[in-house]
Amino acid sequence: MSSNEAFWPKGVRCAVALTFDNDDESGMIDAFGPDKMFYVSQGYYDTNAGTWRVLRILDRHQVKATFCMVGRTAEKRPDVVKAIEEKGHEVAVHGWDHRPYFDMDPIKERDDIQKTVDIVQKILGKRPVGHRTPDWNPSKKTVEILHGIGGFIWRGDALDNDLPYVHKFDDGKNIVELPSAVTLDDYDNYAERGYSPQEVFELWRDEFDVLYEEGKFYCLTMHPLVTGRPAPSKALEKIIAHVKSHEGVWIATAREIARYWLSRGNN
Ligand SMILES: [Zn+2]
Repeated sequence: MSSNEAFWPKGVRCAVALTFDNDDESGMIDAFGPDKMFYVSQGYYDTNAGTWRVLRILDRHQVKATFCMVGRTAEKRPDVVKAIEEKGHEVAVHGWDHRPYFDMDPIKERDDIQKTVDIVQKILGKRPVGHRTPDWNPSKKTVEILHGIGGFIWRGDALDNDLPYVHKFDDGKNIVELPSAVTLDDYDNYAERGYSPQEVFELWRDEFDVLYEEGKFYCLTMHPLVTGRPAPSKALEKIIAHVKSHEGVWIATAREIARYWLSRGNN
């Protein structure tokens, strides 16, 4: 079987999303406080160098990716947001200052998401349609809040499946969940588990091989401040080459995959 039309468009066996979270220094400040420059300084690598290297790699391999922007990152570096958009990638939302929502007041949560939508819209002249909560830690209300703000067609907050699924709403403005996994996250593998770039590549390759065999959805969650570093960037190049060496792989932005999933009609 070279395709899996039960789930995917004709001729496609496995859909692949390359996603990057532009935490910049905000993720480090959220985790370690504003004074530990050892961490904060590593955060700055995102917009100073990491994102630019990632963009060069994606260009070289002619694949489109999704970048989830922290609002503060966008406000500080509109040039980065514009460069991502100009290369044909998707810009999505990743909170305002990387504080997760699980214990946040819902009014503040809504404000954080809206502020980030507004700053991206101001920079690009069009609104983002996707969202990933910082630290994959949404509140129980996040999907309703996204629906209430309007315009969102996907979110990437769940770690509970190998295929997209749909959050349904009475007005028909449904939101596709695009699940990922901690094994498919660069920060978890490099920083938490201490894996080498070669080990990360092998893990990501094995995960892909199983999902490809089953005709499922493969969603890498990366950070320019991690995967944009020189040796990890080689792991990114190698996994893109491995994925592309297979027949019937659809590498697309999260927006394209969500649009397709909403169009299937049998969700
Ligand atoms: Zn993040």
